[in-house]
Amino acid sequence: MLEVIFLGTGGIMPTRERNVPAIAIRYKGEILLFDVGEGTIRQMNTAKISPMKVEKIFITHFHGDHYLGLAALIQTMNLWNREKPLHIYGPKYTFEFVQNFLNSGFFRPGFEVHVHELGETRLKFGDYEVWSFKVEHGIPALGYVFKERDRRGKFVSEKLAQYGLKPGPILGKLEKEGKIEVNGKVIRLEDVTGPKRRGVKIAYTGDTEPAERVKLFSERADLLIHDATYLSAEDRGEGYHSTVGEACEIAKKARVKLLALFHRAFRYTYDEYLREAEAICREFGVNFVVPRDFDVLEYKAGNWQFKNLLEGAE
Ligand SMILES: [Zn+2]
Ligand SMILES: [Zn+2]
Repeated sequence: MLEVIFLGTGGIMPTRERNVPAIAIRYKGEILLFDVGEGTIRQMNTAKISPMKVEKIFITHFHGDHYLGLAALIQTMNLWNREKPLHIYGPKYTFEFVQNFLNSGFFRPGFEVHVHELGETRLKFGDYEVWSFKVEHGIPALGYVFKERDRRGKFVSEKLAQYGLKPGPILGKLEKEGKIEVNGKVIRLEDVTGPKRRGVKIAYTGDTEPAERVKLFSERADLLIHDATYLSAEDRGEGYHSTVGEACEIAKKARVKLLALFHRAFRYTYDEYLREAEAICREFGVNFVVPRDFDVLEYKAGNWQFKNLLEGAE
């Protein structure tokens, strides 16, 4: 099961309606956090996500709205006697920033905190990978891709019959070793299985101007969460951010399945932003959502299903 939980969807400053950026990906019991804006611990409590389940935190850049919740999160983990190590990934200077946090206040974490400063790289973990790529934001800043590993195709019974294979331990061996020899004949896994099943791909830009690397790294993503701070270039002025139209253009070029317009400026109400975004995205023919805090996208049978954690809650 895979869920993308939007804990904070606004940019720059929190408002009554939305907090600053934090996105949780829940994958097979693990929680991965992408950005930890101020107040993320409160958002996690509301969403009933335990900080103890977080092993990896990915920071896009060191502007306050993306990382100031980190100290509170680490202190809460400490308060709950965490023992499991925590891994923090981020761009250049991550080590310095985390070190400053750990030295502020009268506390020392009782668990290991590992810091990983990244350039553009591919990190491999069990059934998924996380890729980092450079974005354009005037300071060292990264975007990330969560990529589930592709899985082998299913066994096809007609093909098995053709090779005289029956379900049983022999298929386990074939799966493990990639090929087996039967009566002097080599049978490969791909001889008896269907096409590979593509793992889900999610790209998150953090803050960025429209960037070619975003297009490259989000190619055919199932979900692209893109900076769409402003509705128009006039609103943006000289800032290093993107507009809704620019995010749409990249989503279209990269042929992504779904675009999430993220990091909305605090000046817009939800309804106003949604109304204008609808008109812009329609022109580009892009499939999009404007996530609110506590919205969840669940990936099921190749499609995204949408729900809000607070709807129907007391
Ligand atoms: Zn920001
Ligand atoms: Zn920023």
